[in-house]
Amino acid sequence: MSGSLLELRDVAVEYDAGGAILGRRRKLRAVDGVTFELDRGATLGIVGESGCGKSTLARAILGLVPLARGAVILNGEDLAALKRRALRARRKTVQLVFQDPLGSLDPRMTAGEIIAEPLGTFYPALDKTQRTEQVRAMMGAVGLSPAQFNRYPHELSGGQCQRIGIARALIVEPELLVCDEPVSALDASIQAQIVNLLESLQASLGLAMLFIAHDLRIVRHLCDRVMVMYLGRVMEIAGSAELFARPRHPYTRALLDASPVPDPQRERARARIPLAGELPSAVDPPSGCVFRTRCPYAQDRCIREVPALRPVGAAFVACHFTEEIFNYSIA
Ligand code: ADP
Ligand code: MG
Repeated sequence: MSGSLLELRDVAVEYDAGGAILGRRRKLRAVDGVTFELDRGATLGIVGESGCGKSTLARAILGLVPLARGAVILNGEDLAALKRRALRARRKTVQLVFQDPLGSLDPRMTAGEIIAEPLGTFYPALDKTQRTEQVRAMMGAVGLSPAQFNRYPHELSGGQCQRIGIARALIVEPELLVCDEPVSALDASIQAQIVNLLESLQASLGLAMLFIAHDLRIVRHLCDRVMVMYLGRVMEIAGSAELFARPRHPYTRALLDASPVPDPQRERARARIPLAGELPSAVDPPSGCVFRTRCPYAQDRCIREVPALRPVGAAFVACHFTEEIFNYSIA
C-alpha cells in the first residue's frame, strides 16, 4: 500500500471528438500518461495554458470521467476497484472548488442551504440544529457573516460566492481540496483575499491541495510543488522554489517568461523563450515531444521520440535536451 494520500499512475482520459475516421470514433486525448503522488497535507500546483487538460485531470481525480488508462489511488485504494457504496464514502475525501463561483451554486438555495447540503448526504444522522451550528461555524471560518446565512447567491459578490463554495467543500472535512482556477473569475482585488483564505485554511486544517491555476505567481505563493502540463502531458514537476529559480523545460521557461513576475535574476540568466503560435489540437497531437512544434530548441529526435519524465537535478523533466538548453550549475 502506498503511503501517499493520492497517487496517479499513468492516467489517460479521452473524450469523443465527434465524427469518425475509417469507422472508428475520433478520440481526443485530454490527459495522457500523468503520474504523480501527493502526500497528506501537501500542496501541488498544476499549471499550463487553457486546453492542456488541467480540468480533465481534476475530473479524473474526482472520479467524474472514466479513465482510458491508468489508475487513481486514494489512501491506497484504487478508485476503479471500489464498489458503489465504498466509493460514495470515499467521495467526501476529495472535494472540489470551482472556477465560476456564481455559476456553480444553485441559485434557488440560500448560502446556508448550499453549505449544509453535503452534510445531509454524508452525515444524515445530524439533526437540523446540529447542521445549522456546523454551517454557522464554517461560515465564520471562511469569512462570511451570520447575516449572509439566508442570502441567495445573486445577492452576494463573486468573492462571497467563492467563500460559500469553499465552505461547502470543507464542511465534510475532506483530506484533499481540488481547486480548479478558483480565483480566475474574480476581480484582482478579491483574488488575493481568497488565495490568503485558502492558504490559511490549508495550513490550519492540514489539508492537501491541488491548485490549478493560470497565474504562476499564485502557485508560487501557495504550493510546495508545481506540475507543468502541456497538451495532456506532464512537462516538468519540481519543488516551487526550484521550478521558479531553475525552469528546466522550455515550456516551463516560456510560461515563466510570459507571466509578469519581476525577477531580475532570471532576466540575467538567459534569453527569453517566447511562446509563439497556438496550442495544437489534442485530436491530432504532434509526434514525439508534443511541445516540439512551438519549441525553439526542437531537433530531429524530438519528432521521433517521446521524452520520458526523468530526474534532472532536483526536478523531473520531459525534455531530451534540457541539459544542453539550460546549463544550470547543479544546486
Ligand atoms: P484546461 O482545464 O487545461 O483548460 P481541459 O481539461 O478543460 O483543459 O480540456 C482539455 C482538452 O479536452 C481540450 O482540448 C478540450 O477542448 C477538451 N475537452 C474538455 N472537455 C471536453 C468534453 N466534455 N468533450 C470533449 N472534449 C473536451
Ligand atoms: Mg480548466
